[in-house]
Formats: sequence, structure tokens, C-alpha cells
Amino acid sequence: MEILGLTHFKFYQLGWFVWNRMVHMFKPGGIFEAMRQARNSGMVHHFGLTGHDTPENFTKCIETGILDSITVPYNLLYRGYEPTIKRAGELGVGVVAMCPVGGGSLAYESDPLRKATKMDMPTAEMSLRFVLSNPDVSTACSGMTELAFIEQNTRTVRDFDPETEGIYEVVCEGVDRLRQTLGEKICTACGYCMPCPEGIDIPLHMGLFRNWKVLGLDVNSKQWPGNCVRNAIHTVPEQQKVTKCNKCGQCEEKCPNELAVRDTLDQLAELFSK
Ligand code: SF4
Ligand code: SF4
Repeated sequence: MEILGLTHFKFYQLGWFVWNRMVHMFKPGGIFEAMRQARNSGMVHHFGLTGHDTPENFTKCIETGILDSITVPYNLLYRGYEPTIKRAGELGVGVVAMCPVGGGSLAYESDPLRKATKMDMPTAEMSLRFVLSNPDVSTACSGMTELAFIEQNTRTVRDFDPETEGIYEVVCEGVDRLRQTLGEKICTACGYCMPCPEGIDIPLHMGLFRNWKVLGLDVNSKQWPGNCVRNAIHTVPEQQKVTKCNKCGQCEEKCPNELAVRDTLDQLAELFSK
């Protein structure tokens, strides 16, 4: 607070929520006691939790009534937390949408997405508008590493009118159409295929494949070199790399979307070797 020149925080988010740690968080001298003290002293006005635990566990957590807000992943490609977000709206719990631009992947221009939605606007803008059009979302937390991103995002939000947009249905229909056109099922990042006996981060790689093949996001983007699919593959830690796949097939047995994970990883491995 000294560094920021503040006397209190209106809003404070704690990471990373995991339901099975709740018992520790409630211990005397634990996180919740500290937060209660901070709130009672006026140092923090509202507090919430952030994390990647399952939507079901986040719902259980907000139903305890202890939180003012939650921060959960939500974007036009990943809508798995929508039931939790809706429940938060019913309970008056604030929602911060995490990764509204898909962790940077939707900052690329995607012609297939634009055509499928028939919306002529930058993909990043479409993504942000989509998230904010959900009436139960309070705000979005978008990473911005360049001044141009800040300008674009502030412009988008300033011009945005959730009452008249109607963007939600249009985008959902467009993304569904895109999936059908390609005749491919898309990974929903549910994580049911995990753990992989070789330690591969399967949802991460399936997401990269989707960005590459389905959304037409650039493999060699010059505009976003740090985020292009090929570069992203190279930044995966050694112990989670796709080249470690032993083709055991356990992931495919567990995948509810019946995705051909092994074949997908093979294609990514080729990209990796180039
Ligand atoms: S097939 Fe490959 S990715 Fe799937 S569980 Fe086996 S080692 Fe992991
Ligand atoms: S189980 Fe299937 S849909 Fe879910 S993360 Fe794994 S590959 Fe994707």
C-alpha cells in the first residue's frame, strides 16, 4: 500500500483456490482469519479467490457465502465456468473473467472466426466484448504488454453497450458453426484426460492445435512472435513436452469428446521439430 500510495484496497484477490485446501484456509491463523482481520480493520473492503479449480468446486465455494468475488477462466473458446458464473450472479458474487483473450491466443487475427461470426472486428475486441456481454461478469482481467493493447482494450470497453450488443449468441453460433464446418470436435480443456503418465500437459497442447488448425491462428506470426503457435510449443517445459508421448492411449479412453489426442500430438511434434 505504501508503494501504491493507498490507504486500503477496495478489492483484493487471493490465488490459487483449490477446494481441498479449504480446511487449511479456515485454520486459526490461516488465510480466512487474516482476511477477516484485514476487512474488519478497513484495510481491504472486498475479497475473493482466483484459480483454476473445477467449476463445480468454485460453485461450492461461493455457496458458502464467504466470498465477495471470484476470478475464473472465461472466453469465447472456453465457456466451462458458465454455470458457476451464473450461480455467482444469483448470489450477488462478483465475477472477474480471467483469460478473456484466451491467454493471448485470441489476440491473433483469425479469419475463420471472423467469417464464421460474420463480425468484422479485431479478434481481441470480439473476445473482450463477448465476455463483457455476460450480465453476470463484473469485469475482465486482460493481460496487456504493449501500449497498443491498452488503447485497444480501453476503446473497446468505452464503446461497449451490453444492452444493445447481442454479441453473445452471434459469437456462440459462429464458433459452433466453425466447429461443424471443420467437422472436428474441439478440445474443451476439461482436463479429464489428465494426468498423462509421461507428464505431458495435454490440454495445453490440444489448445495450441486448436489455435493453429481450427482458428487459423498463425504458426509463424510476425506480429505476435512471442505468442505464435510454434514459439509457444518451444516454451513448454522439458518434462511436459509433446515429444514424450508413448502412445499408450489412456488420454483417448478418458476424453469425453472422443478426440484423437495421439494423432494431434503427432502433428504438433512435427511442428516442434521444425
Ligand atoms: S497417449 Fe501420450 S499423451 Fe496420451 S496419456 Fe499416453 S503418453 Fe500421455
Ligand atoms: S479430455 Fe479431451 S476435451 Fe478434455 S482436455 Fe483432454 S483432450 Fe481436451
